[in-house]
Amino acid sequence: MGYYEFKITVADESRDALLQKMSEIGCLGAIDNDNALIAYFPDSLGINAITETLNPFRKTLKESGLDDTILYEYVYIGERDWNESWKKKFRPIDIGENITILPPWEEPNNQRINLIIDPGMAFGTGHHETTKTCLTLIEKLSRELLQKERFLDFGTGTGILAIAALKLGFKHAVCVDIDPLAVDAARRNAKLNNIQNIDIKEGSISDIKGNFDFIAANLMSEILIQNAREITSRLKKSGFALLSGMIVVQENDVIKAMEEDGLCILEKSYYGRWVSLIAGWR
Ligand code: SAM
Repeated sequence: MGYYEFKITVADESRDALLQKMSEIGCLGAIDNDNALIAYFPDSLGINAITETLNPFRKTLKESGLDDTILYEYVYIGERDWNESWKKKFRPIDIGENITILPPWEEPNNQRINLIIDPGMAFGTGHHETTKTCLTLIEKLSRELLQKERFLDFGTGTGILAIAALKLGFKHAVCVDIDPLAVDAARRNAKLNNIQNIDIKEGSISDIKGNFDFIAANLMSEILIQNAREITSRLKKSGFALLSGMIVVQENDVIKAMEEDGLCILEKSYYGRWVSLIAGWR
């Protein structure tokens, strides 16, 4: 199998809608690189199917009141060159005060907390705004929390948040994801980081038992709202819930659902149009 590598210029405000559309038609992964989005598609899709999705999507963006600029160029990459091409684009990235995310083929920086992430096909390379904010907040709150026994990563993707939490001093992490590819990626990344105190399960939060000092949930707002009761019922009285993955216009609905179940919003963080909330019992 070969691949098409697309270099796409798109406005920040339109980027997530475009990513979602590309993922619907079979995009294998996308990363930010030199102010462009680099996206990979299997050649089995056919180049026409890809361009015939991208071109009319400008109209959809415009109708949603978003910037409709989509400029792209692409190259064909044979199977043998795929890994090399992907590797060249996925570079280390510093986040928060002391975290560095790096792929397995880069040398760790011994002055920093290294998270080795093989992106595979799962979400969570650390390049997305929500993942960056979650990592920054987990780093900050792990200094404030007195009890750091149990961490829950609801919608774990590559496992990046749980791996960070364990490296920041949590004793044990439980990770869930409904996507089997994410579960495989999270297990692979736990191994790459030499982490044992982690349980990674296919499923959702309703499949998890026990209480947690920290619950990270970087998910779409609808999933956060649907699972408000599941989240609150698993949060210890002294713990924090990190609710992320919503955009500004969805913030109030998530807050309402959490407050109905007794949680207070303690902190809000904004990154572009993305919002992350810290909730607790006081
Ligand atoms: N935690 C990673 C991060 O912060 O980068 C990945 C977050 S990604 C936005 C959301 C993940 O949640 C995806 O891997 C998706 O498969 C998973 N997911 C979506 N709905 C879910 C549900 N109801 N239960 C468990 N996982 C779910």
